[in-house]
Amino acid sequence: MAQLDHTHDSKLESWVASANGHPDFPIQNLPLGIFSRDSGSPRGGVAIGDRILDLPAALAVGLFTGEAAQAAEAASGSVLNPFLALGAGARQALRERLSELLKTGSPDQGRVEPCLQPASDCTLHLPVHIGDYTDFYVGIHHANNVGKQFRPDNPLLPNYKYVPIGYHGRASSIRPSGVPVRRPRGQAKPPDAAEPGFGPSRRLDYELELGVWVGPGNELGEPIGIAKAPEHVGGFCLLNDWSARDIQAWEYQPLGPFLSKNFASTVSAWIVTPEALAPFRIAQPGRPEGDPAPLPYLTDEADQREGALDLELEVLLLTPGLREKRLPPHRLAVSNARHMYWTVAQMVTHHTSNGCNLQPGDLLGTGTISGPDQTSCGSILEATLGGKSPVVIASGEERRFLEDGDEVILRARGRRDGFAPVGFGECRAVILPAV
Ligand code: CA
Repeated sequence: MAQLDHTHDSKLESWVASANGHPDFPIQNLPLGIFSRDSGSPRGGVAIGDRILDLPAALAVGLFTGEAAQAAEAASGSVLNPFLALGAGARQALRERLSELLKTGSPDQGRVEPCLQPASDCTLHLPVHIGDYTDFYVGIHHANNVGKQFRPDNPLLPNYKYVPIGYHGRASSIRPSGVPVRRPRGQAKPPDAAEPGFGPSRRLDYELELGVWVGPGNELGEPIGIAKAPEHVGGFCLLNDWSARDIQAWEYQPLGPFLSKNFASTVSAWIVTPEALAPFRIAQPGRPEGDPAPLPYLTDEADQREGALDLELEVLLLTPGLREKRLPPHRLAVSNARHMYWTVAQMVTHHTSNGCNLQPGDLLGTGTISGPDQTSCGSILEATLGGKSPVVIASGEERRFLEDGDEVILRARGRRDGFAPVGFGECRAVILPAV
């Protein structure tokens, strides 16, 4: 598990002035991504304030040596899979060196400065080639809320507190923040209709999730034990698992979600490292009395002690009406990653417990992370009680589900007394009409 060190010191400042007090990218964060500028090819970079450090450029002028150089090299291509494959040692060496290069008083400032690009002039790309994408269901309040809509007396199925439930999703339709999402068409059967119809989804929803980027991974047939699981977590992002509830309700039995989920998913573009999130690790919130203890293969003392995350998660909605009236986005929910019933290590271990192999750059979604009340719903299905109770917006608009032109913005931030807040950057996308 990532340890606290001098790179987390809240007094550390950068000579990149915009980094100091930056809501997402102070010098304590240093997330990696893939960017391009003008006609240049996509390449690895590091977010620092409102700038991006061009890693291949910094490597070319000799700013890295040893393990840090190995990591910078692995992060210099058009995807970060080689970097994720290296694991924690190289990643920590790179963080250490980046912190040194970018801190106030660095003797290398003059050599680093020409390697910085204004982020506003750059395009951010998907940071990895995603081989496989698995979505879990570890947000227990979401599981309860959604379960209640289907089974009021028995919202959680009996396996929930034993098994980190998940399903295999679709990697080909995952896009980085900023890429619009086309409303899907599909087959649905309203409860009062005799036959299903086919057309644009009328119950389009977002899902507030954390994404986990897999690091080195495992060979087929060689499970990752729970104590080793943190070594295979290469980083984190925000994930919006767009969902068409009308298509989902009709198709999901008996094999689970299919076309209701695979038309698009959006991730935030920066890979926030486990090291950057070290200050925000917390003990796994206690299981309510009467809940079973996890089975031994999912139990680890260190994971119980510090395997959960305290990250504030936020959903905002920018509607055409708000844009027209120049009003700020409507805050739909504030939740927290502490509402995960299973830790990321438990997700990794369970996924590989049958021998299934994870590979560098695979994406694991946590599932929707809702909090315990109506102000912390991670989907609009929950916020409007299945469309029955609309959200009222300052523009005068109402929403039961998402409409064309709506833009959903997810944010995540770690805060802790004595530490610099660290953010993920936005995960946003606007809904385009169905074709
Ligand atoms: Ca989901």
